[in-house]
Amino acid sequence: MNHIIRDTTVLTMNDRNEILERTDVVIENGIIAKIGPKAGETADNANIIDGSGKLVMPGLINCHCHVPMTLLRNYADDMDLQTWLFDHIFPVEDRLNEDDVYWGTLLGIMEMLSTGTTCFADMYYFMDSIASAVESSGIRAQLSRGQTCNEPGSDFSGNQAMKESEEFVRKWNGAADGRITAAMAPHAIYTCSPSYIQAIAEKAGKLGVPIHVHLDETVREHEDSLGTYGKTPAAHLYDLGLFDHKTIAAHCVCITVEDMALMKEKGVSVIHCPASNLKLASGIAPIPEAISAGLNVCIGTDGASSNNNLNMWEDMYLASIIHKGSKRDPKLITAAETLRMATVNGAKALGMSCVGSIREGNKADLIMVDLEKPHLKPMHNLCSALVYSAQGSDVCMTMVDGRILYQDGEFKTIDREKVDYHLEKVCKRLFE
Ligand SMILES: [Zn+2]
Repeated sequence: MNHIIRDTTVLTMNDRNEILERTDVVIENGIIAKIGPKAGETADNANIIDGSGKLVMPGLINCHCHVPMTLLRNYADDMDLQTWLFDHIFPVEDRLNEDDVYWGTLLGIMEMLSTGTTCFADMYYFMDSIASAVESSGIRAQLSRGQTCNEPGSDFSGNQAMKESEEFVRKWNGAADGRITAAMAPHAIYTCSPSYIQAIAEKAGKLGVPIHVHLDETVREHEDSLGTYGKTPAAHLYDLGLFDHKTIAAHCVCITVEDMALMKEKGVSVIHCPASNLKLASGIAPIPEAISAGLNVCIGTDGASSNNNLNMWEDMYLASIIHKGSKRDPKLITAAETLRMATVNGAKALGMSCVGSIREGNKADLIMVDLEKPHLKPMHNLCSALVYSAQGSDVCMTMVDGRILYQDGEFKTIDREKVDYHLEKVCKRLFE
């Protein structure tokens, strides 16, 4: 179906962050066909959407998530990362099956769609379940099977995660009309041996897919790396050849100026996960420094177990204010910069040049925000309003590939009651 959004405000997120007023947006065959005043006046057979009092902007891109971890939301909190992960999360994850992951994924996708996320990058397992949920829901995603193996060796062809990863790439890369792309994901340097990381890098090269990795999330990871390898986690991955492939690196809390130079050289994107880093007390990533070093910085929520939601508006808010506060410099990370991280920079990180901004010819991955809310008035500055005042619940429509997936509280592709029904059954089995 074609759509015309009439008489609306558009935040383009083009190079000048241009804002267009009283304009129409015409969406044809999944593409933004025309933007301009009265551009949608003559089109017929289209769904007309009243855009007055609303904003059209690019859908948000969540670059680091473990979406089925919605199932573990508010299950284990207020403890350090190692205890949280090894004593609480991993034991429950051992009991997960593909059905659990499917329903947990749909729940996470509902949350993302209703808060304006149109694309997410995910690392988990039971990837067929996640891909199926992405396919049926209509959202866009870069998916990867997280791999862990601390054994040394040279031949990992019999390694289960490696096999699953390769099978996943062959089956799903480019699936769902291109909405699903695949990556390879060595979980982290503390869960993967050097030779395993090298084997994954080699495989990614052969399959022609990018890399998604956790990098330098905690002081402990950083110091262990210095102790074991005599170098930082980033230098370790650089030397292993991982960064020779297009890479997105989550967290980067402890990266050094030297690391940033290595990452810049290889075009590694930094995924800032402020809520997760603060909640797990990992620290504050040197994002202003990373931006000064010329790195592409995007935003991720991380899983719902360490955040505890998948609402990008909260992470945008934190991304913008924590650096001001911790560095005592209110000029750091402006609202406009933050919006770029959550949109165009995310698209760049994931190698998706046709999303992330509102321009003619781009795929219609866009959202509408209700600007008539009391907490958004008066509208002195749109970017400031979006980052400092807006809430995820201000999103009133979410569209991916020109298809409306969420509108005014209603999910168009997901049966909410069915998800709730299965969720209850899943949780009963997992936690009782
Ligand atoms: Zn993570």
